Amino acid sequence: MPHDHASHDDPHALLPVDPALRVKALESLLTKKGLIDPAALDEIIDTYENKIGPRNGALVVARAWSNPAFRAALLEDATAVVADLGFYGRQGEHMVAVENTDSVHNMVVCTLCSCYPWPLLGIPPGWYKSDAYRARVVREPRKVLADFGVVLPDETAVRVWDSTAEMRYLVIPKRPAGTEGMDEAALMALVTRDSMIGTGLAGQP
Ligand code: FE
Repeated sequence: MPHDHASHDDPHALLPVDPALRVKALESLLTKKGLIDPAALDEIIDTYENKIGPRNGALVVARAWSNPAFRAALLEDATAVVADLGFYGRQGEHMVAVENTDSVHNMVVCTLCSCYPWPLLGIPPGWYKSDAYRARVVREPRKVLADFGVVLPDETAVRVWDSTAEMRYLVIPKRPAGTEGMDEAALMALVTRDSMIGTGLAGQP
């Protein structure tokens, strides 16, 4: 499936070591030509970095944990359910929720570039975009998990989902034991960004 990159056959490995410099140069050029407004760019970055962050995703997970009807609807059609909550927009058009259980642990990667559900999780962490993560998570997911400090029982299968521009994934981590009776806000605090990518587990109460 296509990713949201114009040049698929141009792997990121071939990019210069300092992409930030290239971005800055590009931004300056586009600003000089009057094609972009730097203030608008700052606003977009601030929105995804600070106002959204992974909190939207945490709300979705906490609600799925505490509301069976919501959980069922989310697993059935995540795009519609999260759009109802107002979580939609660029990089979040087609969402699929995958649920961790005792028998399966889900992890998300974008093997080609860095497709990621921005409206739910904000800006992707640096490691998500790294060549090492993108290559290794497919080949040796359990070793990658171990690097993140996550060791799963042998009977838990690990399933890796490859994001594209057409499909982005939200992992619903397992609800931690001892959280019965906790309200949505308290549950949200246990939902980490990494637990929604599948490289972490939800926190303990
Ligand atoms: Fe991608």
